[in-house]
Amino acid sequence: MDDIAIGIIIFFFGTIIGSFLNVVIYRFQSGRGLGGRSICMSCSRTLSWFELVPLASFIVQDGRCRTCKTRISPQYLIVEALTGFIFMLLTLKYIALLPAHTSLFVALLVYAMYFFSLLVVISVYDFRHKIIPDKLVYTFIVCAFLGQFFVHGTSVGFAMPSALALFSGLIIALPFALIWYFSQGRAMGLGDAKLMIGIGYLLGLSQGVVAVMLGFIFGAVTALSLLLLRRSRFTMKSEIPFGPFLAVGALVVFLYTIDIPTFLSFFQS
Ligand SMILES: [Zn+2]
Repeated sequence: MDDIAIGIIIFFFGTIIGSFLNVVIYRFQSGRGLGGRSICMSCSRTLSWFELVPLASFIVQDGRCRTCKTRISPQYLIVEALTGFIFMLLTLKYIALLPAHTSLFVALLVYAMYFFSLLVVISVYDFRHKIIPDKLVYTFIVCAFLGQFFVHGTSVGFAMPSALALFSGLIIALPFALIWYFSQGRAMGLGDAKLMIGIGYLLGLSQGVVAVMLGFIFGAVTALSLLLLRRSRFTMKSEIPFGPFLAVGALVVFLYTIDIPTFLSFFQS
């Protein structure tokens, strides 16, 4: 099977996981558990299997419920496509391992898919509600912390991380936790600092620092663009959730393994 075929299969697998992540996002803290059939949010009709096909159902139904014709949030389509796309990029990162080290390829890919699925849920939740739920971010922190005992770059197996690595998440988040404390939450949310702890443990100190810097750069560019375009009464006071930008920073750094020296070399002509 060639790489393109694998990429396409992984993309569709990602859209299925994405449709599950949508369920997690909507049912999180809404009182409904993860069990039970999906319903239309508007008319409460139980949806059939053919209304739950990732991407296709939304497009075929023109983004509306078949019965009550209420618009379905484009979030469903976006999260499905986004997850598929991220899974495809993660596959490309490890694809060279596939022919000779198939089980290592699968292990690393599942590991990466798990963390970036969690980041998709956190990002979309932060985007919608401007808050990062503790349950989600603590899950991310604990798993990333434990992960460094078992996954080291492209090798898998138990090994004690360095003393510095054991504190990488806390070191990265500390300055931002202080900013949160002294600005009394006005300059920065505590949820963002917690997310940085997880990113620090997932990527290590050097790459984690770059991920946070990229998050700030992406966030600043987006805020300035929105200001210049004067979109929908956007002002500097509008709260832009920072979580999604941190997650994109983490993804870019993870995909291309950008540590501090690599990052600085971009600026040296
Ligand atoms: Zn309906």
